[in-house]
Amino acid sequence: MLDVEAFRRIVEAAAFHQLIGLRLEKADAINGVAVLRQPYRPELSIFPDAGVYHGGVIGALIDVAGAVACGLTLGRPTPTANFRVDFLRSPAKVDLIATGRLVRTGKTLAVADVEITDDKGEVYAIGRGTFSTAAAFKAIEGGAESAKARPDGSSMTVLPQIAARQEELTQWRRHLHDHPEIGFEETETARFVTQRLFEAGIEVHSGLAKTGVVGVIEGRPGSRRIGLRADMDALPMEDSGTPLWRSTFPGKFHGCGHDGHIVMLLAAARHLAQSHDFDGIVHVILQPAEEGLGGGRRMVEDGLFEHFPCDEIYALHNMPLLPKGRASVRAGATLASFDQLDVTIHGRGGHAAMPHRTIDAGLVMAYLVTSLQSLV
Ligand SMILES: [Zn+2]
Repeated sequence: MLDVEAFRRIVEAAAFHQLIGLRLEKADAINGVAVLRQPYRPELSIFPDAGVYHGGVIGALIDVAGAVACGLTLGRPTPTANFRVDFLRSPAKVDLIATGRLVRTGKTLAVADVEITDDKGEVYAIGRGTFSTAAAFKAIEGGAESAKARPDGSSMTVLPQIAARQEELTQWRRHLHDHPEIGFEETETARFVTQRLFEAGIEVHSGLAKTGVVGVIEGRPGSRRIGLRADMDALPMEDSGTPLWRSTFPGKFHGCGHDGHIVMLLAAARHLAQSHDFDGIVHVILQPAEEGLGGGRRMVEDGLFEHFPCDEIYALHNMPLLPKGRASVRAGATLASFDQLDVTIHGRGGHAAMPHRTIDAGLVMAYLVTSLQSLV
């Protein structure tokens, strides 16, 4: 079933991105209907007195309708639901009605065919709306799933055996934060991790993908094997924070929170090693170079799963956008990655007084950047 709060966040995130300030008034997942309200904003109209939206806003409405379509199909078995969106400028008066159908949802993009009509039934615009299903959308979708798991909104509980050692764990994290190391250079971090695992009586293997570390914990007899994975690298940037435990290495900074990830996994590993309260084997995997350098792939190429087979593997990343105590869970890809591409634009030079005889590569680039960004 549709999680209305998650749906609200999807719609509002899309509307916020488009700067048109829509608010969700009603979401009816069963009939696939959403009602959105937009307070009248003259700056979005080409003829403010007549209340006529300009083309950019219509494009934005189509994209928001795409987002609505994604939201309405969350948690449904087939992503083909029809939908209807009423854009209101007051609770009473319907200005525009968007109807359509979700065409496809992919790993990174949802696409919806949308027709927008005015309140007299005249077709106002037809378009294909897209909405990024990566990054924020995935986080929101994950939030919806965890909200379903805990409808009372209660927080996760920390095991008392782990909570009792919070002070020590905090010190570990601050030590790592003080001494950040970037991708494939995590030698001291790996040493620290190895030491903590040894102290917990865990068998440790190091050197996979240069600085990667794997701990092996055996529970009760059993054939199942799972992997728990954390990343160890910091970012090549300055730590501009003021706390006492800020980075002591210039130009290196645990700005992504991997210092916390390491400690969370070490705490879990120690607890599992002490309790042995599970069947089979847990592989504790600390990978180097998560920040764009492919440390995980290197570990796999170096034989991670041949030496330490896993039926399933679990990873996490901190997500400050989620409410405290809430974890979002989903199988497969969860957060967006980045890629790089080079574009060369060949212009044609000329005289400033005869710009029509030139091709201004700068201008072409400016348009290209704006248009590509609208994919997001
Ligand atoms: Zn990260």
